[in-house]
Amino acid sequence: MLGVGRICAPSARDRTGRAAAILASDPSHHGFFWLRVDLHCHSNASDGELAPADLLGLLAADGVELAAITDHDTFDGWASLSPEAKSASGCRLLPGIEFSSCYQNRECHVVGLGFDPGHPGILAAVDSQNRRRHERARQLAARLEWLGIPGALDAALLHAGGAAPGRPHFARFLVESGRVRDAEEAFDRYLGEGKPAACPVVWPHLEEVAGWIRSAGGVAVLAHPLVYSFARTRSKLRSLIATFRECGGGAVEVAMAGASPERVAQLGKLVAASGLRASAGSDFHAMAQHWRRPCRVPALPAGLEPVWTEWT
Ligand SMILES: [Zn+2]
Ligand SMILES: [Zn+2]
Repeated sequence: MLGVGRICAPSARDRTGRAAAILASDPSHHGFFWLRVDLHCHSNASDGELAPADLLGLLAADGVELAAITDHDTFDGWASLSPEAKSASGCRLLPGIEFSSCYQNRECHVVGLGFDPGHPGILAAVDSQNRRRHERARQLAARLEWLGIPGALDAALLHAGGAAPGRPHFARFLVESGRVRDAEEAFDRYLGEGKPAACPVVWPHLEEVAGWIRSAGGVAVLAHPLVYSFARTRSKLRSLIATFRECGGGAVEVAMAGASPERVAQLGKLVAASGLRASAGSDFHAMAQHWRRPCRVPALPAGLEPVWTEWT
């Protein structure tokens, strides 16, 4: 059962008042709990809709006090904001990123928070991830061309605006060129796993990715564990969390958008038993995804240590 008005068990930081304010939740927003913390959202530096400054404005307007822009394999969005813009917004922004990694031959995402953005290891990691993304984009475009759909790479590069193009950018091209009705159909017919234009990337192992973040002084967070098809059962989810901990992971995203309270409660118990801390993130990408607005995530179940007490 999720509490109303609190999102986690009281901690020493709660008693200081500052953390208590950040932990306040308001259940009046369409049945969601409104955290003042959102440590997972995307700008147009990867596949999000909003420019970093607009995203920061939205976070601040939504009352978020602590946030991280966690673009895929880049922190260019965060870096593009001036210190003045960051401090004027009233929303504290941590350096953030969402790395793609590999767990049991499947893609698994790891959010990095609070790292040193000038650390040579993290810069080299961003570079190598981007090389993988560009290579995948070239292969994907070649497959589309073989299927009779030319021009995909140039269009995807344009949509990506200087970032490495991802599948959503190709989906946009397929929609705009009239090949499919919407992005969902683009994935169903061409881009999704096992479809004719799908090009799996061999991402580095979870341990290597968590190591990059830790070496740069950050916390590695297992992103949206309830969306993985390879971790649908309780025992598979438990093994994923245990492996993540062994690999140097520090926290698991427990308060996530789109998950039922029952699944969040189950995940919370597994995370509490693992000794890892808990994070919260909407994985916001675009305004049309009304279920993924910043901070609109379920409350943290009781008994979990929020990862953000480190920065509040
Ligand atoms: Zn992700
Ligand atoms: Zn994400």
